Amino acid sequence: MPVMQQLIDCLDLTASLKATGFIDPTNFEAIYDELVTTGCNPTLVNEIEGRVRKYFECLVLPSESTLYDRLILSMRETDLIATFNWDPFLPLAYARNAHIQRLPQLAFLHGNVEIAVCLKDRVTGFRWQQCHKCGESLQPTKLLYPVKHKDYNTDPFIANEWKRLEWFLDRAYMLTVFGYGAPSTDVEAVELMSNAWKNNPRFELGQVNIVDIRPKRQLEKTWQPFFCRNHYGTLKNLRGTWLFRYPRRSCEALAFATLQQAPWKTNRIPRFKSLAKLHKWIEPLIAEENAGQFTGLPCPMV
Ligand SMILES: [Zn+2]
Repeated sequence: MPVMQQLIDCLDLTASLKATGFIDPTNFEAIYDELVTTGCNPTLVNEIEGRVRKYFECLVLPSESTLYDRLILSMRETDLIATFNWDPFLPLAYARNAHIQRLPQLAFLHGNVEIAVCLKDRVTGFRWQQCHKCGESLQPTKLLYPVKHKDYNTDPFIANEWKRLEWFLDRAYMLTVFGYGAPSTDVEAVELMSNAWKNNPRFELGQVNIVDIRPKRQLEKTWQPFFCRNHYGTLKNLRGTWLFRYPRRSCEALAFATLQQAPWKTNRIPRFKSLAKLHKWIEPLIAEENAGQFTGLPCPMV
């Protein structure tokens, strides 16, 4: 996947941008922000938006299991994954794991190429689906681009996604940030999130995990507003998070370790290539959920 800085090359936009007068067209966010803020070239803005959508719509997941599958399977329906990503990987992973158990909820804070909506009936789904109320084709969600002053309120779909994230941040016991660096173009977004998290009555007990390859000191500076005393950890990858050490049980494991002083044995989600094998491995956890009884015992190897 390209990161923002690589996007201009991936979308083959260098020539168009140079022709418009950008001498060094490398910073997608800054260029897009300038084009939109000044309103000087709506044709180019349309061209960029069209290419972004086309590029991301073509992406598919490999057949073997991916990080997206492990991420989705590491949570339950009481959890929320909120993403800024436009790419279809998370929705595609959702679709191919949905038969296993009820999955975590998803919120698309900047829209998503795979997700579509019927605004009139407040129905969301995949872009190939019809609205189950009116029968009409669902319409693509608006993609929100990286400008300094983002408008999260005008588009009803995006406004609703933010409301859902705030609802969860007001109540959650654990917050994991992964692949999101809180860039300076996102000041308002980060403020919205930190206000909701700080209003959470569980703020004093909850745990924050930041997964990022940047130096610890830099991460502590960026995410300080989210931390209560030392109730946080910074990690280089997801393997060490509560989510992946105690899949589907992160909050229960945290409660047993900190409130009960009786930590559970680690039950790290394996990196099986085969998705079927991964499904087999989590079967005991799903059986516990269906029986309404959690043991905290690790899953046997399959
Ligand atoms: Zn409808």
